[in-house]
Amino acid sequence: MKLTNYVNGEWQEAVNSDFTPVLNPATGEQLAQVQMSTAADVEAAARAAKTAQKKWAKVPAPKRADYLYEIGRLMKEDKEHLAQVLTKEMGKVIEEARGEVQEGIDMAFYMAGEGRRMFGETTPSELADKFAMSVRSPIGVVGLITPWNFPVAIATWKSFPAIVAGNAFLWKPATETPMMAFEMAKIFEAAGLPPGVANVVFGSGAEVGTAMIEHPDIKVISFTGSTETGRKVAEAGGRNLKKVSLEMGGKNAVIVMDDADLDLAVDGILWSAYGTAGQRCTACSRVIVHKGIKEELQRRLLEKVEMLTVGDGLDETVKVGPVINKKALEKIHSYVEIGQQEGAKLLVGGAVLNDAPLDKGNYYAPTVFTDVLPDMRIAQEEIFGPVVSIIEVSSFEEAIGVNNGVIYGLSSSIYTSDVNRAFKAQRDLDTGIVYINAGTTGAEIHLPFGGTKGTGNGHRDSGVAALDVFTEWKSVYIDF
Ligand code: GLU
Repeated sequence: MKLTNYVNGEWQEAVNSDFTPVLNPATGEQLAQVQMSTAADVEAAARAAKTAQKKWAKVPAPKRADYLYEIGRLMKEDKEHLAQVLTKEMGKVIEEARGEVQEGIDMAFYMAGEGRRMFGETTPSELADKFAMSVRSPIGVVGLITPWNFPVAIATWKSFPAIVAGNAFLWKPATETPMMAFEMAKIFEAAGLPPGVANVVFGSGAEVGTAMIEHPDIKVISFTGSTETGRKVAEAGGRNLKKVSLEMGGKNAVIVMDDADLDLAVDGILWSAYGTAGQRCTACSRVIVHKGIKEELQRRLLEKVEMLTVGDGLDETVKVGPVINKKALEKIHSYVEIGQQEGAKLLVGGAVLNDAPLDKGNYYAPTVFTDVLPDMRIAQEEIFGPVVSIIEVSSFEEAIGVNNGVIYGLSSSIYTSDVNRAFKAQRDLDTGIVYINAGTTGAEIHLPFGGTKGTGNGHRDSGVAALDVFTEWKSVYIDF
């Protein structure tokens, strides 16, 4: 299967394109080949999008929303197929893949609703016989750059508000997960979106991503990925006076206080640390635990971690799938070695799983370190794999300090039965998302998604807040 670009409503082979294999991370098997486009393809897509957007902007928002209802309906009809492709291509276990596709469906219906609620404001004028109002207006052509860990959900968080707000988009999906983008493009086509409104250009960040950021007609870049790349996007975006929305790394913690329900906390840690094999920007990679219950929490956690089955996510009994590729496997293992050198104690895991049949895929054992100090590299840097560091603290204030003492600020969580402490925590945890008595993952699509500090630059995906990225406020004065 050869995956080609979807531009101006047509499936097009790129100019001068090479193809790169798409591998199943669970088996190493080649699933497809994806084209690696060049700046010339970005140019063609941007031109098509620019022409299409002029007409699209004039379609009433509720009518634009109707396409999203149709997209949602088609995704719902195709849900199991989409989930299967997602698991094969990305590796997450099938139950999570179904959840992710459902998130995309929810986003379609939610954003479709926004088409009928894209409110502006009227404001009393200072002057007589003058009417003053502000309306949300589309920006034009927008660029979407999405990661491989949530190839459906994150694409819908960006593309659906872009569409409903009256923009045309050019989307560069991650090269590791182009099949999901291909499936979504087929759905855009089947839903009858006018040609040029939705364009998918496959290729590398260095070539296609850079061309998008440099292109004068692409007015917004909405990027989700690493902080390192995000910084480059921001720099280039700044030079080109683009609006840049960044959603980057995390080093999220679950805090467990001495009055917590420990079984609940263990479940929350398990799912937020090992779901998607720890490859979520919201994944729990630190457990900050009160010294009074540390040993007991550790014992209960270990018991459950040892029971996690690792394998091909298509097998319904498997709980932890592979990581995305060999490079990720190496990175994760190098952090485990760093943790050992730093003096942390490895409780379980810490190895690439090499016994057949796992040797064909990219499997890493669910790993727990304890006696970790807050400033160790394993407690500071994003590992993006199934590795958790347990850090002991003596008080609530210390727990908050350790939580906030990293460069990132995406998600945080606290387990406590003290309602006052819970309220204090939601105020003092310096992250974009806070969970009380739940793990660090599982964000819902109708709330703003994003983080503080090294995680983001003030913009949000998802929820009505996403419309702020994809619209411009226009103030209108009418004298009468
Ligand atoms: N949907 C995910 C969650 O909150 C986050 C997406 C991500 O990690 O990028 O669990």
